[in-house]
Amino acid sequence: MKPKPYSTFDRNDWFLACPDCDLVLPKVQPPKGNRTECPRCGCVLLNHCHDTVSRSLALALTGLLFYFPAVLLPLLTFRKLGLSETGNILNTVQEFIDQEYFLVALIVLLSAVLFPLVKLSLLATVSFCLKIKRHPEYLKLFFRIYNYLDSWAMVEVFLLGIMITIIKMQDSTEIYFGAGFFCFIGLVLVTMATSLTVCKESFWMLIESKGERSWQYFHNTISAALAIGIKTAATNNLFLCRECHLLCYNHPGHAGKKQICRRCGATLHFRKPASISRTWALTITALLLLFPANLLPIMHVDFLGIPSSSTILDGIKIFFQEGSYFIALIILTASILIPIFKIVGLVIILLTIQFRRPKYLRQKTAMFRFIEFIGRWSMLDIFVIALLGFYINFGFLSSIETAPAATYFCLVVVTTMLAAITFDPRLLWDLLNGEEDYELSTQ
Ligand SMILES: [Zn+2]
Ligand SMILES: [Zn+2]
Repeated sequence: MKPKPYSTFDRNDWFLACPDCDLVLPKVQPPKGNRTECPRCGCVLLNHCHDTVSRSLALALTGLLFYFPAVLLPLLTFRKLGLSETGNILNTVQEFIDQEYFLVALIVLLSAVLFPLVKLSLLATVSFCLKIKRHPEYLKLFFRIYNYLDSWAMVEVFLLGIMITIIKMQDSTEIYFGAGFFCFIGLVLVTMATSLTVCKESFWMLIESKGERSWQYFHNTISAALAIGIKTAATNNLFLCRECHLLCYNHPGHAGKKQICRRCGATLHFRKPASISRTWALTITALLLLFPANLLPIMHVDFLGIPSSSTILDGIKIFFQEGSYFIALIILTASILIPIFKIVGLVIILLTIQFRRPKYLRQKTAMFRFIEFIGRWSMLDIFVIALLGFYINFGFLSSIETAPAATYFCLVVVTTMLAAITFDPRLLWDLLNGEEDYELSTQ
């Protein structure tokens, strides 16, 4: 029988596996305004989406229109007693390079400038090709890179950094908004809208639509496996592709060989390789880096010729003393509480697996998802220092320079984000080892 073509969600008779707990579930199209959640761990499996390709194309093109003025035109102008400083995002990166903080400069350049551009360009290309029904081979790679960059492009964090800089300096300095500032707000709004509009599942199904031949066979395989009553993808001898979330059959003839996802081309593993040891290594590294990041000064302030250095905590204390409680709380949360929470959370999850204590798995999985989500917001302090370092440069009157803790702090953010990426939450659920009595029919 020739399978009928499937455009987006026109079939609901096939299966998916939860990326967080590996449970195999029937794939059901969520009703409008709704989403499908995994009944075991609460992971969002599918969102209702409509016309995702055309909307994503429109948003990606609008984003590109905003991008270049947002990056190249001046963001702000700071003026104090006749002295003024004006510049764009690239100038703030240049400031780090001038002060020889190359690693920090690179991370800011990638996360606030280059990755957002790459993401928008890839999305525009992929959605344009799908719109005109072309399926060049590179679409798979492009869409995989697009998904990789999801957590590393941080325009919204940078915008919050700009807001905090403005609030911090508004009493002591005259601030004028440049055209770049308004375009940057446009860019952030469009970027946030794309993350709601792009339905990854629909995109992958459309990218794959050339490969319908193997589809019916595959569907039969899973149906047969489920008929035996086994619940997770791994126990069904099925790989869940980590990148496009396709269930792939572990062909007996390929035992011991590297297996590739036929939809996106990613290498398939039942669980992320060496997940526990890699996550431990990255978490412990982050913990060690947290000490210099908090104990060393993060910026040098020179006010009327009097130099002083301040650590992250000093900066927060100053905000509290000035009565800016809201900003103080935001920076305290982003710079101190989030990194500590991420490290403690990962240690709790890793210990759960090491000591094989399958308790509160749903809560721990939710905590892990939260750790993944908040990772990027810790870059806030670095962006504020980038902006202050560039704009507050009035010679003898006052100037701000970056100090060594900035490098350590950037490394804390990157290592904790990598730790969350290398960890495989399905390992938590493997602790149940099939003992849990779960009925698919409750879905
Ligand atoms: Zn689940
Ligand atoms: Zn795949």
